[in-house]
Amino acid sequence: MTERSSTALERERVVSQYREVCAKIDAACARAGRQRDEVTLIGVTKTVSPELINAVLDDGLTAIGENRVQEYLGKRDDLHLDSVQRHLIGHLQTNKVKAIVGQVDMIQSVDSVRLAAAIDKYSAEKGIVTPILVEVNIGEEDSKSGVYAPDAEKLIRDIADFSHISVQGLMTIPPISAFEAKKREYFSKMRHLFIDIRSKNIDNISMNVLSMGMSDDYELAIEEGSTMVRVGTAIFGRRQYTV
Ligand SMILES: *Cc1c(COP(=O)(O)O)cnc(C)c1O
Repeated sequence: MTERSSTALERERVVSQYREVCAKIDAACARAGRQRDEVTLIGVTKTVSPELINAVLDDGLTAIGENRVQEYLGKRDDLHLDSVQRHLIGHLQTNKVKAIVGQVDMIQSVDSVRLAAAIDKYSAEKGIVTPILVEVNIGEEDSKSGVYAPDAEKLIRDIADFSHISVQGLMTIPPISAFEAKKREYFSKMRHLFIDIRSKNIDNISMNVLSMGMSDDYELAIEEGSTMVRVGTAIFGRRQYTV
C-alpha cells in the first residue's frame, strides 16, 4: 500500500478542477456559437504555490495572471513558464512599474495616462513595446480602479501617442451581483464599448482582447463576448490570504 502525500492529492484536485473549467468553456463557446480558439483561459495564480500552479501548467494551461509584482517576481523562477503567457492583472502602482516591465507579456490594468507614461518610459529604456489593456470600471464603483466607460476612448487616444505601449483591448471587473441578468448587462455594456472603440480605428491601437469573466461568471462572460477569462478559485480553490 502506498500512501500519497496530501500535496499529491491537492495536485490531482486542481488538475481535475482545471479540466472541468476547460470543459465548461468548451460548452459555453458551443452555446454561444463561438470558436473555442476565440477565448483564452488565464489561470489566476495569486497566493497559489508554485507546485500547484505547475501541476496545471503541466496539464496544458497556457496563460497565468498574477496580481502583485512582488509576489510574481518572487515565485516565477519556480514556475514551468516555457511558452506560457504571463499577465499582470492587479492594480499597478507607478513605483512598481520599473520592476515589472519586460517581465510579463501583458499588463491588463492600465487606467491612467500617468501609469501608461511610466510603462512607456521603462519599456523605451528596455527597447521593448509592452502590450496593455485599459481597465474599465463598468459599474462606476468607488472601491474599484479603472476608467469610467464614457472616459475610456479619451484615455485610449491619449495612450495611443506612446510608442512603447501597444493597447490591445479592454479589461473589467464588474460589480458583484447575485443576479444573472445584472451580470449580463455589465458584460454586454463592455462588449458594446469594445465594439464602439474598435470601430473608430484609432491609429496605433488594436481592439482584439476583451478580458472579462471570473470564477463565478466566466461562462456568462463568454456568452456575452469575452475573449479572455481570468479564473482563479474555480481552478485552485479558495485563496488563503494568511500565507
Ligand atoms: C483574483 C482575480 C481574478 C480571479 O478571481 P476568481 O474569482 O478567483 O476567479 C480575476 N481577475 C482579477 C483582476 C483578480 O484580481
